Amino acid sequence: MARSSQRQRRAGCAAALALLVVLLLLPPHAARAQSDDYQVHDSHFHLTNYIQEGVEIEAFLEIMGNEVGRVALFGIPLQQTWSFQTSGNYAPSYYLHSDAPLYYYSFTDAYIAMAYRSLTPAQQARFDPMITGFNPADMYAVDHIKRVLRTFPGVFTGIGEFSIHKEFVSAKVAGNTASLRNPALDRIFDFAAEAGLLVILHNDLDIPFGKPDAEPVYLARMRDLLLRHPDATIIWAHTGLGRVVFPSGASASVGPAQRSPRHIHLLERALTAPEVPNLHFDISWDETAKYIVSSPEAVRLAADLINRFPDRFLFGTDAVAPKDRESYLAVYHQYQPLWDALTPEARQMVKKGNYERLFDRASARVRAWEAANIKR
Ligand SMILES: [Zn+2]
Repeated sequence: MARSSQRQRRAGCAAALALLVVLLLLPPHAARAQSDDYQVHDSHFHLTNYIQEGVEIEAFLEIMGNEVGRVALFGIPLQQTWSFQTSGNYAPSYYLHSDAPLYYYSFTDAYIAMAYRSLTPAQQARFDPMITGFNPADMYAVDHIKRVLRTFPGVFTGIGEFSIHKEFVSAKVAGNTASLRNPALDRIFDFAAEAGLLVILHNDLDIPFGKPDAEPVYLARMRDLLLRHPDATIIWAHTGLGRVVFPSGASASVGPAQRSPRHIHLLERALTAPEVPNLHFDISWDETAKYIVSSPEAVRLAADLINRFPDRFLFGTDAVAPKDRESYLAVYHQYQPLWDALTPEARQMVKKGNYERLFDRASARVRAWEAANIKR
C-alpha cells in the first residue's frame, strides 16, 4: 500500500516535471492571436455587470472582430443587492442606482471559467481570464484564489480587477472595509508573486474631491504596499484616478478635467523607483481618458511620460458588457490624440506589446505553478 502510493506520488512528480518541460519548450506566443492581425489588445474588460449579467462570450468575439486581438477577461466581483425596502420594484443594475449594499459574488469566477471553456482553442487563445471573486479584506481570500486554480486548471492568468479604495463603491460593500494595510491583502500579493499571477488593482490615489495642494490621501499607503511586494507584477488600473478622484493638483474649481503636471510627476516618481520595477499602469476607462485628452497640453504631458516609460503602460477599455463594437471601442477612439502623440514604438507597446509580454509571462508561470501544485 505504502509502496504503491509512493510509486503514484513519484509518477505524479514525473508527470508534473514533464509538463513543466513541455511548457518551457513551447514558444511563448504559440497559438496566440498574431499581433499584426489586430489593432490593439484590451487589458481591462468586464464581461458582466454589477448584477452579473452581460454579453455572451461568442457575441463578444463578434464585437472584438478583427480589431481587438486579445482581452483580459473578468466579471465584476461585487453584486448590487436589489433591496425591496430600498427601491421597491425598481431593479438597480449599477452601484450608483441604489443605496442597498454590494456583496462579493464568488460565482463570477466559475462563470468566467465556464464561458472560456465553452470556446474552441483558437478562440481561447484570445482571452486571459482573471480571478476576481474574493473579498480582499478576508484572510481566506487567498484560499479562494487557490481553489479557483485547482478547480479550473489551465484557465486563469491573474487576479483582478479588484478594488481596495474606489469612490462610491468601497463604502457600499457589506462587511469589513478593504484597506491597503490589511494583512489579508499581503497574503494575496504574496501568493500572486509565488504563483506568477498578474495583479490588476483598482485603488483610488485620493479621496473624492481631494484638496489640490495636499498629498493624495492613499499615496503613502499604496507606496508601502508596493514596496512590501516588489516581486508581484502589478497593473495599477486607471493610473489611480476616478470619476471625482481628480489628478493631484487639479480640483473642481481649477477644472477637474485638467490633467495636472503633479499627477504626471507622481507617476514619474513611481516609474523611476528602482524598488518597484514590476509596477505598470493601465489607461483604461473613459473617466481616465477624459483627463488625458482634456487639452493639447494634457496630451503632451501624458505622451511625454509614456514615451519615456513605454514598457510600463497598457491600453484597456474598462468596457462593461458592451452591446456593440462602437460602444466597446469608444475609449480606444477617444484616445486618438494620445495615439498620434506617441512614438511608433511606444504606441505599439501600449496597444499590444506590453500586453503580450506581461500576460504571456504570467500565464506560463501560473501553468507551471498548477503543474507543480495540483494533484491530477
Ligand atoms: Zn476600475
